[in-house]
Amino acid sequence: MTTVETPAFIGRKQGNLIGGTWVPAASGETIEVINPANGGSLGTIAAGDAEDVDAAVRAARAAFEGEWSRWTPHERRKLILRVHDVILEHFDELALIETLDMGAPLSRTTGLKEWTSQVLQFYASQTGAGGVAAQPNSLPGDFLTLKYQRPVGVVGGIIPWNGPLIGLWWIFGPALATGCTAVLKPAEDASLSVLRVSELMQEAGVPDGVINVVTGYGRDAGSALAEHHGVDRIAFTGSVGTAQTIVRASAGNLKRLQMELGGKSPDIVFADADLDKAVPGAAMGVFTNSGQVCVAGSRIFVQRPIHDEFVARIGEFTKSVRVGDGLDPATQLGPLISLRQLERVQKYIEIGSGEAELVAGGGRLGGDYANGFYVEPTVFAGAHNEMTIAQEEIFGPVATVIPFDTMEEAITLANTTPYGLAGGLWTENLGTAHKVSQAIDAGTVWVNCYGVLDPAIGFGGTKMSGYGWKGAKEHVESYLYPKAVYMNLN
Ligand code: NAD
Repeated sequence: MTTVETPAFIGRKQGNLIGGTWVPAASGETIEVINPANGGSLGTIAAGDAEDVDAAVRAARAAFEGEWSRWTPHERRKLILRVHDVILEHFDELALIETLDMGAPLSRTTGLKEWTSQVLQFYASQTGAGGVAAQPNSLPGDFLTLKYQRPVGVVGGIIPWNGPLIGLWWIFGPALATGCTAVLKPAEDASLSVLRVSELMQEAGVPDGVINVVTGYGRDAGSALAEHHGVDRIAFTGSVGTAQTIVRASAGNLKRLQMELGGKSPDIVFADADLDKAVPGAAMGVFTNSGQVCVAGSRIFVQRPIHDEFVARIGEFTKSVRVGDGLDPATQLGPLISLRQLERVQKYIEIGSGEAELVAGGGRLGGDYANGFYVEPTVFAGAHNEMTIAQEEIFGPVATVIPFDTMEEAITLANTTPYGLAGGLWTENLGTAHKVSQAIDAGTVWVNCYGVLDPAIGFGGTKMSGYGWKGAKEHVESYLYPKAVYMNLN
């Protein structure tokens, strides 16, 4: 393995960013940051709580009502483009921090550079979305009607650990584009890249208080943000259970909510599919980021005539996937985020072994990797859709293969889930592609590919996968609210 120089940022005692100043948690408490690749320490983050959240929300409110509210769309656009340049200049460091902190291989984290460039350029292009337009009206007399789009105010962002270097832009991007301000609570298991990005955003000239970061546990900092009456909107990404708690906590001042939640996405392989593409495509549709992906296509439905061949080939493919330390350029899958997540995934593998046939994987890595949180990518076959491993989100590299006969059956099975985040299908038939992609009840469907995401198109879920759209103009509009002004000209 090549040796990689650890950034100076790592190993520090990190603070919270409140009103442009880095401060420790008011309580003085900290949380140790663990490298999931080897269980070693990467320093500490602040264990923020309600007091820190209150200070951050007040700073965000002051910034929202202050000078920032007078920034023109052009000034905000230039600011986002400066942020773009500074972030891209430091991207190798950010990718390394993300790999050390949450385990994803460097090949994945460095690969986010182009996407990050696109997402920031997209939000830079949206700074004119707010504003005012004269609108025709049908009133008697002579009225001028003006329709404003105003920024909603202070946005509370709460994100999970599986991709903070992606998730943070879904909060900061639209906030900067529309003139909102933000308080972001990253996940306690992976906050470092968010903290470093925030430092760099300060360097790029983001005014004090416009973005604030409070690290800490969900039960302390997260719940305080969800409850705080100074927060106008919550943008949450995470699990269904936490979302339900946040919905209840946010009722006090009827916050606007955006909920991006979990999934148990179907990936359907038809008998006419090109298996040279479908086998690795469907496998990596589950295994990418060690399965810690909300859109993971973890239920693979395979049409009966090719079922056995598919199972044999995905088993072979899975055994060939390189699992290891994310710093090794040869690594395809890194460790899981934590011991807790490893135990959760192992529990599902145990359940699966009792329900279905284990085709590949199932074990932990030993030797040099014994202190990290590694699990082999795992495939179960001989399964059906009602099994626990086919219904519950595992959030680990575990694929469940289920046979089907007809297109109608595949559609029914695909939609028999409480979730509706994403889905995929593999076919050479255009009619099948159109019909099935229409019929899958999910926010995104991929045909002969999996997991691609254009920030200008965006994505979101249906059913228990939540509501609200990330990316595209819908996202920007959700950071604005309409206001009508009627002027009697007589
Ligand atoms: P989680 O719900 O446990 O935690 C997410 C965030 O919520 C963390 O920052 C956590 O600290 C915070 N939190 C926890 N309890 C809280 C509370 N009571 N009040 C306020 N905040 C609280 O989720 P997780 O296990 O960290 O992440 C995995 C989940 O996220 C999976 O279900 C996955 O599918 C989902 N996810 C969804 C998307 C999407 O865009 N749809 C993207 C990534 C992950």
